[in-house]
Amino acid sequence: MSRTPIVAGNWKMNMHRNDGEALAAAVSAGADGLGCSVVLCPPAILISVVVGAVGERRIGVGGQDCHPNATGAHTGDISAGMLADARCGWVIVGHSERRTDHGETDAQVEVKASAALSAGLIAIVCVGETEAERDAGDADAVVERQVRGSLPDGASADTVVVAYEPVWAIGTGRTPTTDDIAAMHAHIRSILSDCLGGDAAAATRILYGGSVKPGNAEEIMALDGVDGALVGGASLKSDDFLAICRAASSR
Ligand code: PEP
Repeated sequence: MSRTPIVAGNWKMNMHRNDGEALAAAVSAGADGLGCSVVLCPPAILISVVVGAVGERRIGVGGQDCHPNATGAHTGDISAGMLADARCGWVIVGHSERRTDHGETDAQVEVKASAALSAGLIAIVCVGETEAERDAGDADAVVERQVRGSLPDGASADTVVVAYEPVWAIGTGRTPTTDDIAAMHAHIRSILSDCLGGDAAAATRILYGGSVKPGNAEEIMALDGVDGALVGGASLKSDDFLAICRAASSR
């Protein structure tokens, strides 16, 4: 089953108008003709700047989170419909920083993902174990609970992407072994097969995230079952991010 790889850049709470605009313009120009889908997820306040900088190029723009409700009294939040209205096609849900900083549960991630689908967005659903959970031998069980608990009804290969991001690898410069990454991706695909059916599981993109850099991207992107990357720190430099996009394209 051939799956077009995706490389998504999560800018987190970084960039201001000028450097964000320049970064988006450089990435979209450099991504022209690559064999992967490229998505930029800037802070919400920069979405219109990034959409403008990307212009008509075929590069995606996404939010970093959305509220489960369509409208209402939710100060500081934005809805999936607002992201779609701002010309986003994607949204990250359940990032470990949301799960940790905002106490988001699988059930909350599931309703956010569901809202994303209702608004016509593709949901990038993040899962991943902490270091203590891995050390205790619980990584498979934790990730299984997260995948089963976070997948929205109606999920399909066209509407949902899973990002496996071990919490201890995010922003630390540490990564699991390639064997461990491949094994977890196979584990996730078998859970998806149980939840969505074999054909949908085979077509669903599973991204790896956690300290992906130009220096390790080729090795990680070449792994069986790895369909691209969710990139934090290295997405803030166009050269680094584009090197990762090229590695994903040539797998
Ligand atoms: C992330 O936050 O999704 C991430 C993968 O960060 P980094 O690439 O910096 O580890």
